[in-house]
Amino acid sequence: MSHVVNKNIGVWVFADHSDGEIKENSLLVVCEGRKLAHRLGEEFSVILVGRDPKVLMQQLELYGVDNTFVVEDEFLENYISEIYTDVVANLATRYMPSVILFDTSSKGADLASRVASKLDKGIVTNCIEFSVNKEGKLTARKPIHNGKVDATITWLCEKPFIATVNPEVLELERVKEPKKVRKVLVKPKIDKDEMRIRPIDYIKADPRSVDIVEADVVIGIGKGLGGKEHLDVIEKLADLLGASIGGSRIAVDKEWIPSSRQIGSSGKTISPKLYLALGISGSHQHTVGIRDSKLVAAINIDGQAPILKNADIGIVGDLHEVVPALNRKLVEESRGGQKKMSGKPIDSKGRD
Ligand SMILES: Cc1cc2nc3c(=O)[nH]c(=O)nc-3n(C[C@H](O)[C@H](O)[C@H](O)COP(=O)(O)OP(=O)(O)OC[C@H]3O[C@@H](n4cnc5c(N)ncnc54)[C@H](O)[C@@H]3O)c2cc1C
Repeated sequence: MSHVVNKNIGVWVFADHSDGEIKENSLLVVCEGRKLAHRLGEEFSVILVGRDPKVLMQQLELYGVDNTFVVEDEFLENYISEIYTDVVANLATRYMPSVILFDTSSKGADLASRVASKLDKGIVTNCIEFSVNKEGKLTARKPIHNGKVDATITWLCEKPFIATVNPEVLELERVKEPKKVRKVLVKPKIDKDEMRIRPIDYIKADPRSVDIVEADVVIGIGKGLGGKEHLDVIEKLADLLGASIGGSRIAVDKEWIPSSRQIGSSGKTISPKLYLALGISGSHQHTVGIRDSKLVAAINIDGQAPILKNADIGIVGDLHEVVPALNRKLVEESRGGQKKMSGKPIDSKGRD
């Protein structure tokens, strides 16, 4: 049964999903949205858009959500910017919430900016914290100048205030008691004849070519690689780990990788679950781009290399010996061979 949502108040989060699961980044933003709603003393709602997104509602019960806008239509199965923008902007125009939050994924960033533009509202991107100032105005904190300082920003426009939130700084906090989520069923009006684009097929990307900013596992190569002819063995490792390949500025200067794959102050900032640095010394200009990584592992021939101080796991050894050994181990693992990874450290010859 549909429920009546209070108008002119409320914190909303757009929740992205795939393969029958709400994405973790969206759940992290949901947690932040709940806290913000609590602070503002307002209702908390989540927007789920898709072919049949109501099946995902149960996943929200652990996150203290009051209402879920379930927007369903067969044409919403895949993300199409213009249609999703209309859906979210129309909902916002109808209910006029106080705040709408999105995650910082490419989809979240695309949708947030389009919705802000459609509603003619201001947007603050990549927020890491929200608070209410002495004048009672909502403010957002976000890193600027490559993370060297944080800026506190407020919206000068009328609500809804639109923001993207960096999930990397958030934690999943479930409520102790699951709470029934009220459903607000929305049947959008989609004029199929007006649609300018329609997805025909989705092809899973080769993990090696995935943007290093989006990848869960990133291998970084540095000058220690020694030459382009050694890339084969790195690509094999990338295949085995499902990793995307990036590297230092020297790797770019030597044309081993394109500049779009440079990590660091004049390259990209990455936040993978695992960053594996191969033959990279760990200059400040490089490590500034990897500090949001969950786990950093480094292989370096020099035990004094600064990267080893930044790493959770350090292997002192020649990458030309360690990487082939690692590849052999991973192949054995994937074949389910008798030799199981023991978790014991391997030395530079790849011996247990
Ligand atoms: C304004 C400015 C902006 C910059 N921006 C960036 C940036 O965005 N990103 C970036 O990366 N750099 C940047 N740099 C360059 C940066 O200062 C370093 O020069 C660069 O990061 C070093 O790259 P590297 O680690 O690949 O090479 P090196 O510092 O030469 O390190 C190579 C490492 O490989 C190890 N090694 C050698 N052989 C092997 C082997 N066989 N097995 C294992 N390890 C081995 C060595 O012990 C060494 O630690 C910038 C510099 C400036 C001035």
